[in-house]
Amino acid sequence: MALKKFVAGNWKMHGLSADLAEIKAIADAAKAYPSVDVALCVPAILIERATRAVPGLPIGGQDVHYAEKGAHTGCVSAQMLRDAGASLTIVGHSERRDAQRESDADVKAKAEAALACGLAAILCVGESLEVRETGGAVATVLAQLDASLPDTAELGRLSIAYEPIWAIGTGKVPTVAEIAEMHREIRGKLDQRYGADGAVRILYGGSVKGSNAAEIFAVADVDGALVGGASLKAEDFLPIVEAAAAG
Ligand code: PEP
Repeated sequence: MALKKFVAGNWKMHGLSADLAEIKAIADAAKAYPSVDVALCVPAILIERATRAVPGLPIGGQDVHYAEKGAHTGCVSAQMLRDAGASLTIVGHSERRDAQRESDADVKAKAEAALACGLAAILCVGESLEVRETGGAVATVLAQLDASLPDTAELGRLSIAYEPIWAIGTGKVPTVAEIAEMHREIRGKLDQRYGADGAVRILYGGSVKGSNAAEIFAVADVDGALVGGASLKAEDFLPIVEAAAAG
C-alpha cells in the first residue's frame, strides 16, 4: 500500500523570531504540494509563534517528556506541546539518545505519552558508523525498535525515522541498497508488531538534500524524510518536498 509521503524538518537548536519569515515561506510554498504531508519541528520556544504565523502547517516539538507533569526541570510535556499548538513531536533523535543518555525505554515512554495526548510521533532509530562497518546495522536497528516501539493502537499518528548516525549532518548517505534493506526490515518488524496494515510511515533521515531526494524517495518503503540542515531554508527544503510529490 502506498502511503502519503511525509517530509518533516528538524530545526534542532536553530531559529529565532526573525526566522518566522522563513517558516512562513516554507508554509506558503508547501501549499503547492498537497500530495505531501509537510511539517516543521522547531525549538519549543518557537512553537506557539510558529503555529500562529502559519496556521496551515503542522508544527512540532523535537522531544517530549513521558510524564504528564511534575518535577522535571527544563522539560516539556505532551500536553504543553499541544497547548502551544504543536501537532507532532520527534522522539528518540540520536542527538538526544547520545547527549541526554535517552534509553530505548525512555523513547518508548515518550512515544506513548505523545500519542496518548493526541500528538503524532516521529520515532528515530539508527546505527553508528562502527556498527554499520562491522555488519550489525540491521540487528541494531531492529533491537532498538523492539525496545522503543510504543504499545499503542494510534498507528496512524506514528512514523519511524531511520537515521544512520553517521549520515546526520555529514553529507554521507547510505547506498540505495542499504536504505532499501533497512526499510524492508523495519517494515517487517512493524508488520510483526502491529499487523500488516502498513499504516506506519517509515522516513529516511541523514543528509537528505534536493540533489539526492528523488533517488531516496524512489526506494521501496521510503515514505518520506526527516530533514535537518536542509530544512532551515525554503530554497533548500522545497526541492525535497517537490521530489516527494513527484515520487
Ligand atoms: C536530523 O538530524 O534529523 C537530520 C536528518 O539531519 P541532516 O538532514 O542535517 O543530516
